[in-house]
Amino acid sequence: MTSNSTSNTTSSTSGSLILVATPIGNLGDITQRAIETLQSADVICCEDTRHSGNLLSHFGITGKRLIVINEHTEYDAREEIVELVIGGANVALITDAGTPGISDPGERLVTAAIDAGLRVTAVPGPSALTMALVASGLPTSRFVFEGFLPRSGIERSERLAMITTEPRTVVLYEAPHRLAKTLSDLTVACGAIRRVVLARELTKLHEEFWRGTLQDANLHVAKVEPRGEYVLIIEPARPPAPPTDEELLAAIRAEIAKGVSRKDSAARVSARFGVAKRTVYELALRVRDDQ
Ligand code: SAM
Repeated sequence: MTSNSTSNTTSSTSGSLILVATPIGNLGDITQRAIETLQSADVICCEDTRHSGNLLSHFGITGKRLIVINEHTEYDAREEIVELVIGGANVALITDAGTPGISDPGERLVTAAIDAGLRVTAVPGPSALTMALVASGLPTSRFVFEGFLPRSGIERSERLAMITTEPRTVVLYEAPHRLAKTLSDLTVACGAIRRVVLARELTKLHEEFWRGTLQDANLHVAKVEPRGEYVLIIEPARPPAPPTDEELLAAIRAEIAKGVSRKDSAARVSARFGVAKRTVYELALRVRDDQ
């Protein structure tokens, strides 16, 4: 067994921390295991007692002790939750929608529980991230989840710059009132023709997948006011086109004109353009000394 195995827990009588995914809109997406786990949990942590209370009572789960864990309280609540689990409680963590820990509370509780040697597990289920990605029509084999972009400043520009050259599909969450600005910033960063999918109101009555270029997405949101919840899926950056022989020859000539030997010119140009040395050297042999 590895040192991460669940046998490495504080004591065999301690309980578990269980992250339970809940629907992102359509209550029919709750899983059988989610209901059973919430029914048998000793304590349920949630972001909002009214919101989760409605969900629980819909599934006939009543009389549970609820503890509020949101982005502001998660850090401070770690000790209390760890103590409860050490004391034998099975503590379930749910959020307002989807999978805990995905742009939602969860990560810090999980870390604290693992650090305390406790058993941590999850009941998988809905997440806007996976649903939007798999139905987007963009590559799914490699993707990167960026959550919500920072709202402004250098952090936002750095993140946009990373997306510009990102060779994997990028998934973002965005609020409707910030969608137009984000699409406009993405267009400046990635260019007008990069493909994007706007996945809206997933699993709900007005579910919609809008597919097109960034340029057209800007026009679309200018025409139809964004409403509801959105996931943006952005096509990976295309690898830069390899340099043509003419571009390589021009670079070789420029080196030779500086007095650099053919061989060294070929080595420099090969390194700069990422083209095999031999290929560049063969081109360098074509350049006459007087050029
Ligand atoms: N933990 C959640 C999950 O697993 O998807 C995400 C929570 S995050 C606070 C909320 C954001 O997720 C929304 O602003 C939106 O970007 C996205 N989202 C959640 N539900 C959605 C839905 N039904 N359709 C589209 N996007 C949704």
